Amino acid sequence: MAKCSICGSKIAELILEKIKGTVVRKPGSSKQYPVCFECQKKFPTKEELLQKL
Ligand SMILES: [Zn+2]
Repeated sequence: MAKCSICGSKIAELILEKIKGTVVRKPGSSKQYPVCFECQKKFPTKEELLQKL
């Protein structure tokens, strides 16, 4: 199960292995960071999310 990269809570996964939430990528990096809906609400822009990773 995926964990949120910011708050560490588990992210529920949908069938077809799609993560319910979003995945952000740091510029210049191929590593992916899953982020839950709650954190997306708290940090609505990608820039803010990246600062919290
Ligand atoms: Zn979170």
